Parts: sequence; structure tokens; C-alpha cells
Amino acid sequence: MRNWHDVRMRILIAEDEPLIASFIEKGLAAEGHAIEVAVNGPSAIGIFLAAPADLVILDVMLPGCDGFEVLQQIRQVDPLVPVIMLTARGEVDDRVRGLDLGATDYMVKPFAFAELAARVRSHLRTVDRAGAAARSDIVEVGDLRLDLLRREVLLDDEPVALSAREFALLEYLMRHRGQVLSRQQILDGVWGISHDPRSNVIDVYIRYLRTKLRDEDASRIETVRGMGYRLVDR
Ligand code: CA
Repeated sequence: MRNWHDVRMRILIAEDEPLIASFIEKGLAAEGHAIEVAVNGPSAIGIFLAAPADLVILDVMLPGCDGFEVLQQIRQVDPLVPVIMLTARGEVDDRVRGLDLGATDYMVKPFAFAELAARVRSHLRTVDRAGAAARSDIVEVGDLRLDLLRREVLLDDEPVALSAREFALLEYLMRHRGQVLSRQQILDGVWGISHDPRSNVIDVYIRYLRTKLRDEDASRIETVRGMGYRLVDR
């Protein structure tokens, strides 16, 4: 596995307040990262779609379209990139909404740069681990273990018999652990984009998986209302 210290990461900062943007930019550039700054929502989306970043720092209140809109656009194309949202003090609803939409973390303004830098380092390490996990043949989430080469799933060390499609769906959920995945993302990732998105095939297969994984209470594969599904390490 490459050492993330040696890798110059691309970080996108979406922040319209020039003083805050420049203090984050200077600090992270000093840590060796390549920084791009967007001063409004549409340009943040444009920059990300043109060249995806390794990490995004995203202010909630942005001109053009707000940080939630930007986050949704980013998650459409990249369910995994760490996104740290910057929220105003006391705006609990903003934090909850951001996390529900797939934000990885948040910082409350005003914050100390040292804390932001520490979180950036931590999330970039996760990026590298996730990259390694994506290449690995064994995926583990809590007491669930999936072995790609043996086509085997163990729950609490007991084998679980899954069909090929169930196996593929579980692998997709496990590789995106903790992330809310929309039905469209799951269709694209597991069934291929040719599938009719109006069908309820995903809900049916999620039900099969829950039964086989003894997850009838949906505490492992959560339903996120209006969004999709999320596999969590319980
Ligand atoms: Ca702002």
C-alpha cells in the first residue's frame, strides 16, 4: 500500500468567504496538497466533475447553490470521497442534513486550523485504506466477512449461502460501508445501468439479504428514508 504521506492529494475547498478560504488553502498547501478553491456552488460542482478531488471541504452557505446541493451532485458520481462540511455554530439541522446526505464529517465555524488539518489527515488515511480494501479479495465489516476468491460469506464465522446476485449486492454494500447508497447507485453498481430503475428489484434483494443475514430488524442494512440503503458496522 502506498504511503499517503508521499502522495500529493487533490483537495477542493468550496468557501465564499475569502479570508477563511485563503487560510485553509495556505495551511493545506503547506502540508503538500494540491488545492483548488471554488467560491460558489456551481463552480464547486464544475471543478469536481472535471477532475474529482481526493477530499472536499464544503461550506454549507454558498452563493449559486448551497453546500447540500453540491454534496448531492458529488455523491451522484462519487459515493466515497471524504466531504467535510463547514457549518455555522448552532445549526444542528445543517449538520444532521449534511450527514444524512452523505457528508463524512463536519466542522463548526469558527474552528482552529490545527483541528481541520488533523481531520483532513485522518480522512485521507481512510481514502488510502478504502483504496486498498477495494483491491483486496476479502472485505470485512464487523462480524461479516466476504471472500471474493472463495465466493464465500461468513456471518459470525458461519457460512451463509447466497445467490450470485445477492453476493454481488452484499459485496457492493460492504465496500461502501457507512455510505448511504441510492437505488440508482446500487442498480448501476450491481445490476448495470441497463436495468429499469422503476423496478423494485433492489428492495426485493435487500429483503432476501436481510433474511439470510438474520437482519430482520434492519439494524445491519439500514433503510434511509427517501435516500436508499446503508450497511453499517453494528
Ligand atoms: Ca459561506
